[in-house]
Amino acid sequence: MAEHRAKSKVNPDTKLYKEFAEIGISHFRIKPIEWFKCESKHELLAREQYYIDLLEPDLNCNDAITNYEKIREQQKRHDHTYYERNKERKKQKQKQYYENNTELIKTKYEANREIILALKSERIYCEQCDCTVRRDHISTHKKSKKHQSNSK
Ligand SMILES: [Zn+2]
Repeated sequence: MAEHRAKSKVNPDTKLYKEFAEIGISHFRIKPIEWFKCESKHELLAREQYYIDLLEPDLNCNDAITNYEKIREQQKRHDHTYYERNKERKKQKQKQYYENNTELIKTKYEANREIILALKSERIYCEQCDCTVRRDHISTHKKSKKHQSNSK
């Protein structure tokens, strides 16, 4: 109910919220139709959708799932802009770290050179092609025509 109350301010144009404004929100109560055990928010919304389809109510008739998916979309878009905004900053940070620690990084690399090279040249078996591929070539191999046609 608190959520509905909050949303009615953000989104006053929906049917339910118009009714809120007309009759007064204090006249509305949320009553549980049933106690429904569910594992996820999506399951819960699917159940809400089931009742919306079943009862075809005049109010609160926006599809629960669509709303949920809309919110997910918005979140995704938000995450994306966040990522874009922080990309430059992250790059800058990495660069800074490298500049400040060049010697350390080089020493570390030298110390682990053998291991790194061994790891890179390790041969990985590709099931689709029945062949082995160097670890540092596996992503190139997976994009290759040979692998693509063997994967079909
Ligand atoms: Zn392959």
